Amino acid sequence: MKKSIWVFHVNAGACNNCDIEIVDLLTPRFDVERFGIKLVGSPRHADALLVTGAGTRQAAIRVREVYRQTPKPCVVFLIGACACGMGIFQKGYHIVGPLDKIIREVDPNAIIAYVPGCPPKPEAMISGVVKALSAI
Ligand code: SF4
Repeated sequence: MKKSIWVFHVNAGACNNCDIEIVDLLTPRFDVERFGIKLVGSPRHADALLVTGAGTRQAAIRVREVYRQTPKPCVVFLIGACACGMGIFQKGYHIVGPLDKIIREVDPNAIIAYVPGCPPKPEAMISGVVKALSAI
């Protein structure tokens, strides 16, 4: 990718700890804008999605819709153990994940990158994003 990457954050049923780490990632302390990573308020302006959570029944509808609204090509970063593979919520009655399956129902060729951890540290997210972008 030859341009800055603008990201849109989606909570798909996270406990909020991963989301707090994403907020931390976006503070001046980690200064991710030096890599061109910038949070935007609409998926229509985003190059990538930062998705947290195990994929609840209610959130799955929104995740599909947000993915459809994001211009292609886009990269979906699944942040945290729950987003990567449902984590501790995998036996929950309300879980319809994993999220990669939900997204691939919309687009079988979706570009998906996984950042595991519970929650992953901001450094792990930076490393995941930079590695994925250099691989694309
Ligand atoms: S991976 Fe851990 S911190 Fe993140 S949403 Fe799941 S339980 Fe919460």
